[in-house]
Amino acid sequence: MIGFKTVKSKEELETPPKTVSRPRFCTKKTEKIPTAENTEFAGVAISMEDDYDHVELCKDWSSCPRCFFLRNKESLQEAAPVKFFPGLSWLDARMVNDMWGIGCLICAAANFKTDFGNFCVRSVRKSNLKRHTASPQHQEALNKLNLDHKDTGIKQAPTEEEFQLALNHRRGVASLSFSVNQVGKRFKLCKMMWCLAEAGREMTREFLKEAGSIALAQDGRKSKLLVRYSACNEVTLVHKKGFLGLEYIDGLQSAAAIVECLEKIIRKFCTRPDTGLDEHLEACIKESCEVLCADAASNEFAAGRLARKGAFSNVVTICKDNAHAATRQEN
Ligand SMILES: [Zn+2]
Ligand SMILES: [Zn+2]
Repeated sequence: MIGFKTVKSKEELETPPKTVSRPRFCTKKTEKIPTAENTEFAGVAISMEDDYDHVELCKDWSSCPRCFFLRNKESLQEAAPVKFFPGLSWLDARMVNDMWGIGCLICAAANFKTDFGNFCVRSVRKSNLKRHTASPQHQEALNKLNLDHKDTGIKQAPTEEEFQLALNHRRGVASLSFSVNQVGKRFKLCKMMWCLAEAGREMTREFLKEAGSIALAQDGRKSKLLVRYSACNEVTLVHKKGFLGLEYIDGLQSAAAIVECLEKIIRKFCTRPDTGLDEHLEACIKESCEVLCADAASNEFAAGRLARKGAFSNVVTICKDNAHAATRQEN
């Protein structure tokens, strides 16, 4: 066992030497004892060889804190855990100005010029460690490093299971006014729906960025334009279709206004709530768009041709949905 290497015989143990040499961790009277105030840095790490050397040379292993620390390192570190990080300990030993001392890795990382922050502590007792764990100074260091999540007892975000329950609820086309058991009521459900919708949009954004060919279908009614997409990945040949956006058409429903509205929908789709407009994605969608589909209304059909001359230069065909306008009367 570490610390017992110096024991030569039982007799030697029972009859301690008359002049007990000072342990290495002790300083001579003339030596300046490193303290929190006069120590500039948080010491240097100790190698295993140094520890072995110390154990071999230490004459007072029974009262030497360094030997005690090495003998009980695991249990001492268990008594000095880092909150919210199971298995991690803030306790470590270092050499400061050739002096051995224990200290706190958290306080040192937070650059706190305290005894624990500067590894100047030589009292290796569990009570001492527990006191430091609970000390305001240590809590402040955790806060400074953003490692302290205040346990208020309130959940920070719904769990994956709760999101799944909310999604299933909406897939059943149920009203948001109906609360979901174990999840919440309308206010919370609305927020969760937004999160789910944004996650879905993000998946679509990633897909359209890689898409080899995109077809956009649009239809306008009562100053509103709805756009859907149908796209295929040219490498994996995965095909997806879905909703791209719905916007009000500004002004008269002219062909130019419809094109402007289409671009507005694409721009809005490419805008993330946190990072803003993704111009690369916007360009990718416009470049990959090969088919524009509108109903038989003249303004929408003209908008398709107008778009081809503008930003949607790679459009190969403009489809006309004849069945859509089956009941339209010829003037
Ligand atoms: Zn020792
Ligand atoms: Zn600390």
